[in-house]
Amino acid sequence: QSSEETSGQSEYNLRSPICCIMGHVDTGKTKLLDCIRGTNVQEGEAGGITQQIGATYFPAENIRERTKELKPDANLNVPGLLVIDTPGHESFTNLRSRGSGLCDVAILVVDIMHGLERQTIESLNLLKMRNTNFVIALNKVDRLYGWKVCHNASIVKAMKQQSKDVQFEFRTRLTQVITEFKEQGINTELYYKNKDMGKGTFSIVPTSAISAEGIPDLLLLLVQWTAKTMSERLTYSNIVQCTVLEVKVVEGHGTTIDVILVNGVLHEGDSIVVCGMHGPIVTSIRALLTPFPMKELRVKGSYEHHREIKASQGIKINAQGLEHAIAGTSLYIVGPDDDVEDIKEAAMEDMRSVMSRVDKCGEGVYVQASTLGSLEALLEFLKTPEVSIPVSGIGIGNVHKKDVMKASVMLEKRKEYATILAFDVRATQEAQELADEVGVKIYTADIIYHLFDQFKAYIDNLKEEKKKEVAEEVVFPCMLKIVPNCVFNKKDPIVLGVEVLEGIAKVGTPICIRQCLVDIGRIASIKNNGKPVDSAKKGQKVSIKIIGSNTEEQQKMFGRHFDIEDELVSKISRRSIDILKAEFRKDLSVEDWKLVVILKALFKIQ
Ligand code: GDP
Repeated sequence: QSSEETSGQSEYNLRSPICCIMGHVDTGKTKLLDCIRGTNVQEGEAGGITQQIGATYFPAENIRERTKELKPDANLNVPGLLVIDTPGHESFTNLRSRGSGLCDVAILVVDIMHGLERQTIESLNLLKMRNTNFVIALNKVDRLYGWKVCHNASIVKAMKQQSKDVQFEFRTRLTQVITEFKEQGINTELYYKNKDMGKGTFSIVPTSAISAEGIPDLLLLLVQWTAKTMSERLTYSNIVQCTVLEVKVVEGHGTTIDVILVNGVLHEGDSIVVCGMHGPIVTSIRALLTPFPMKELRVKGSYEHHREIKASQGIKINAQGLEHAIAGTSLYIVGPDDDVEDIKEAAMEDMRSVMSRVDKCGEGVYVQASTLGSLEALLEFLKTPEVSIPVSGIGIGNVHKKDVMKASVMLEKRKEYATILAFDVRATQEAQELADEVGVKIYTADIIYHLFDQFKAYIDNLKEEKKKEVAEEVVFPCMLKIVPNCVFNKKDPIVLGVEVLEGIAKVGTPICIRQCLVDIGRIASIKNNGKPVDSAKKGQKVSIKIIGSNTEEQQKMFGRHFDIEDELVSKISRRSIDILKAEFRKDLSVEDWKLVVILKALFKIQ
């Protein structure tokens, strides 16, 4: 099998579009991929589907065969479709080149019974960030109550077979999903009704990954639409465009890199440069490998060697010195007229651009990920306003002792940032032991938002603890007016009816007389309509009991030291303001903060 057969050029000289499957967990991404490629498994690779490294290749003839009922003799214009095998964020984020996506198109899978979920939105954000086009597979239509199975049928045909009730449920759920996309700022429409495709309205294809309704529609749409709207992008070129998907040790081959060749041709013996952890790696291709076609797969782990391979293809490359190569970066070819120094520079650019996202102020968490692409996506996520977690350092690969050492620097500055967020990698035992010893937290997860949830829970917990610690010392600002005829006890304890003019009156707050700044004690209890409460807001009328903390305060008396026209205020200090700012910033409104400023002036606090 030559590379010509698997990726032969079409008469229009376009390469095969590269497609990635994304979506929330359990929406059916894996099943959908199986369904697209699986029908012919028994017959080996009948229909020309070939398993490649990290991807499955569907030749145009296969797609034409499967969509002939929908549209006989469809003009496909591309040699085939290359679908990346690992669905989800990781492979998508890896297929990058200088911040833009190498995937030409993505399938965003949404479960029709669940609508948009958290990772759907995460995927949407990644797609937006990389400017990647996508179609939505509204999957699991067979779960609609009373669905009549129509294997491999086009969705229009399948829908005609359904009862009124099924059609009604379908429309209701579809409308709901369309609304949910709108809430994300995205217009969507059933693909066969979408007149605006590619101009801002995204297409929805209802599918079942179990009984394959809608699969012909999905395939045809993907291929025809990409060929039509992306002809420039898909034009075959001799300039090599190639991304490292994974760095892997393979028995008998040493460290290899799995790459997706997006454009151009690779040859055995080519001089290449890849981005490495410790600088650019210059080496030459020792072997270009692909798996044997399924029917020939006799010995596990053996590969077919190629002299040259043409895009688009998933390939394993064997070369020396690849141990520290970084997944998610571009592979460069050194041509006869190229200056290798320029290319080394270009190869490291990926790393530099991600490095530049680290916060310059030097305070923040340490972030570790499996690949440059996932690191970039994680940094992007941490930067969003809703999350907003600063990052002081980054690393790629498993968490080692040296990473813990780096993260531990924060123990002195900001304890909560002495944290490693490890995405899709693990911590070595020594690293974990050291972390436990010095007090660095390591969180590992393979879903971005799980990391965020863990970290947020940790931060919230720290905040609560800190709040408890300083609860004794914190003073909330308040200004109180004594209500006439509501002086219940003049002295020791003072019990008064008051109206909260400004701020928040809280149990525990030290109170002083505004006009003469004489201390009269702390609020020991508050009653609202006879019921004890912890605090009272602006506008509320409550009764408060004030108990002096020392004999001097205990002697203060209504009618002698203060009177009905006197106002009462919280006695604040420099320290209490600092605690308010550090731990209770969000508990105070803008107005409350204005009162702090007034009180600060009143007490002449610097
Ligand atoms: P992934 O996590 O997105 O890769 O989801 P999977 O492909 O592993 O599917 C999750 C579960 O949903 C599995 O139990 C599948 O059998 C089931 N599933 C996937 N697609 C469909 C579908 O179209 N219809 C039905 N009824 N079940 C499906």
